[in-house]
Amino acid sequence: MNGAPRTRLLVVGNGMAGARTVEEILKRGAEKFDVTMIGDEPYGNYNRIMLSHVLAGESGVDDEDLLLNPMSWYRENGVTLFAGDRAIALDRFAKSVRCESGRIVDYDVLIIATGSNTFFPNMDGLREPDGRLARGVFGFRTIADTNGMLQMAASQDDLRAVVIGGGLLGLEAAYGLRTQGLDVDVVHSPGHLMNQQLDERGGRLLRNKIESLGVGVHTSKRTTSVLRDESGRVAGVGFNDDTSLPADMIVVTAGIRPSVEFARGGGLVIERGIVVDDQLRCEDEGSIYAVGECCQHRGEVYGLVAPLWEQAVVLAEHLSGANPSAAYHGSRLTTKLKVAGVDVAAMGVKGPEREDDEFVQFYEPRSGTYKSVVVRDGKLIGATLLGDISKANFLTQAFDEKVPLPDERISMLFDMGTPTAATGAAELADDVQVCNCNGVTKGAIVACVHAGAKSMGDVTAATRAGKGCGSCKGLVADILACAAGGALEADPAADWYVPSIPLSKPALIDVIRERGLRSVSQVFTELATDGSEDVPSKMPLASLLRTIWGPDWVDERGALFINDRVHANIQRDGTFSVVPQMKGGVTTPGQLRKIADVADKYNVPLVKVTGGQRIDLLGIKKEDLPKVWGDLDMPSGFAYGKSMRTVKTCVGSDFCRFGLGDSTALGIALEDRFQGLETPAKLKLAVAGCPRNCSEALCKDFGVVSVGEDKWEIYVGGAAGAHIRKGDLLATVVGAGEVLRVAGIFIQHYRESAQWLERTYAWVPRIGLEVLQRTLIEDAEGIVEGLEQRMQTSVDGYRDPWQDRVEQKSPAQFTPSLPLLPLPQVPVR
Ligand SMILES: Cc1cc2nc3c(=O)[nH]c(=O)nc-3n(C[C@H](O)[C@H](O)[C@H](O)COP(=O)(O)OP(=O)(O)OC[C@H]3O[C@@H](n4cnc5c(N)ncnc54)[C@H](O)[C@@H]3O)c2cc1C
Ligand code: SF4
Repeated sequence: MNGAPRTRLLVVGNGMAGARTVEEILKRGAEKFDVTMIGDEPYGNYNRIMLSHVLAGESGVDDEDLLLNPMSWYRENGVTLFAGDRAIALDRFAKSVRCESGRIVDYDVLIIATGSNTFFPNMDGLREPDGRLARGVFGFRTIADTNGMLQMAASQDDLRAVVIGGGLLGLEAAYGLRTQGLDVDVVHSPGHLMNQQLDERGGRLLRNKIESLGVGVHTSKRTTSVLRDESGRVAGVGFNDDTSLPADMIVVTAGIRPSVEFARGGGLVIERGIVVDDQLRCEDEGSIYAVGECCQHRGEVYGLVAPLWEQAVVLAEHLSGANPSAAYHGSRLTTKLKVAGVDVAAMGVKGPEREDDEFVQFYEPRSGTYKSVVVRDGKLIGATLLGDISKANFLTQAFDEKVPLPDERISMLFDMGTPTAATGAAELADDVQVCNCNGVTKGAIVACVHAGAKSMGDVTAATRAGKGCGSCKGLVADILACAAGGALEADPAADWYVPSIPLSKPALIDVIRERGLRSVSQVFTELATDGSEDVPSKMPLASLLRTIWGPDWVDERGALFINDRVHANIQRDGTFSVVPQMKGGVTTPGQLRKIADVADKYNVPLVKVTGGQRIDLLGIKKEDLPKVWGDLDMPSGFAYGKSMRTVKTCVGSDFCRFGLGDSTALGIALEDRFQGLETPAKLKLAVAGCPRNCSEALCKDFGVVSVGEDKWEIYVGGAAGAHIRKGDLLATVVGAGEVLRVAGIFIQHYRESAQWLERTYAWVPRIGLEVLQRTLIEDAEGIVEGLEQRMQTSVDGYRDPWQDRVEQKSPAQFTPSLPLLPLPQVPVR
């Protein structure tokens, strides 16, 4: 060590900006600084972005992914961290900071990185007299907020939540709570959701998508009060139009405000945030800087991470002396919504602002797709993608002016023979930021590959690329493939059935069988890397155990989603839909009479014929479910859950003059045999009596078409939902018995080798049609007999879940629901 004294660098705020700035500084001159950090959260620095995934159960609070800098990082890098302490006073003249604990820390250079706080609008009843938030009211900013919501969600069934604010954060909170089984409403005071990023048309489509997740949406409503019951408990929210909504939990996501109290107390210049110049230096200060969401640069305050990565680099270059005149010039923002199944990406302006702005739009409400780009002077200044965000990476690069715009503007919205993603990856400049959530450039990924990384897991571990919203994973994989050339290794973790157990699905099945593991908790204890439970793995493991053991698995209620706990499909208003079985879509006057009687007796608001040829009774209260099943005295139709759903049939040869085969009888036989079977994702079947295909068999997971002379074509991997795919012809077989046999081995193979939630439209092309034909039809691997036996065991173990009406699984299984939201009644009956 040379004799030059080290600079005492103090960072207040141990969040994403503070810790990243320290990392960048250490990279450039660790020997020059003695670093101390003060953070009021009692942990190392974590990835706040992941909290949305944690709330949605896709990640756990204890997941390694969440921590960006664990405590060991500080020790290993010689950084002194005072975690769980709050800086409360700044003395600029003495160059010292006092903490809540009484600790005083002196500095030569101070960086303030205190981030933002949740903004709680003025509402009657929001707080207790001592200023604390009312119990049941949450912000969505910290691990503590997220844990609080998860604990409350787990404490009671049938909770209702209202999320105030329908921006990015609010929708992610709503989705997360919905996934936890709560009834959720989003209340938004502007006229449409995500109004900062989307125009009205986009907002309308987004609303449809959010509502289809079972989340209620209320726009143009300002919340004025938090309602309390007689005992002071949160009971709902009141609006400016004198209406109200019931709620047990209220989540406020109506904006954030830079956290500036500490800086203000020290006499720094504050406007909306702490005012800084292009070197992030506070106004009129020589040795105090601010980074991240707490600072205001050229009039802007930011609420996303991309700007703070750029700020951290500039400040590190400047302070370490690597480039003392490095300057930050502001950031351009792109946003992406982290709600599974609702794809939204937006950047820049929402629409044309000048007469000569070019505006290219595609709007297809039927498929829920809306795309637009705004070009000014040959540069992309705005883009919106909703429903299909496949062009998001290209548009982000174009928005950052890293790639030229195509002359044919429409090709910015659709792939029209433009270069493939991989070619695009090769052409990107090294300084292009690929992972916005973690500020990782293409150059950093390439460097990490040159340093030995051979798989996606290696790259993520070394750079964190892909560990945020996840939208860059495809591009990271393409860059990895280009950089590694032929030396690419498969990522072993990509093959694991669940993240916490390092086994592929077939291997996991073998171990579970060998060791006789019958409950989810047993599987975790024996097989999880650290023996602990992780939330996202519970449902896939429960499904697998049911597949393996049938009725003999140990049913731990906590591992199941609400639909699977009560064997019915939860609806928007918290009631359930009841769909009795109608094999092959065939019913009788007696069944219809019973359904009609039940509908009358329970005042069922909507009776509807479904797309799967059954009758749906909607609006049943949870506590009435066992009575309704009892009165119907029909088995469950499995219109919920990840299982075999229905077999749709056409009229067939008995009545149809074109009919070549008895599709109805075969459909009934298929449903009879495979009813209710647990599958990795829902499984739909259909049988058509001739190639006219009236029952749409070509777009089902397993579709059968009669071609005459007792011959049946079997199509697999078809779909006609959010994803559309024509099934592949697996085989043409003779006789209904052979169809049943092939269906059995196909479904069992799918059950044993598909990933959790992998529909056959993805699984069939992944495995490959020819491989399936060899394995299942030619039995090239000799596994067919085993598949047949295991399928037979499952079929023999079938039990109608509606039997729970007589043998309840837990005392609370059908306890009464809370007051329900009155929905408009559809006058069908
Ligand atoms: C649920 C959620 C999802 C998000 N998703 C995305 C996304 O998908 N994409 C995206 O770009 N951004 C997202 N963000 C925003 C992103 O997390 C922030 O932009 C980023 O965390 C800001 O970093 P920061 O360091 O400025 O503030 P923070 O990360 O908030 O860190 C500030 C830290 O300082 C501490 N602190 C404050 N005052 C003091 C004091 N006086 N003494 C000691 N410590 C103090 C705070 O407790 C906090 O730990 C999301 C945020 C949330 C909450
Ligand atoms: S698919 Fe053929 S057999 Fe079936 S109803 Fe249509 S025309 Fe008739």
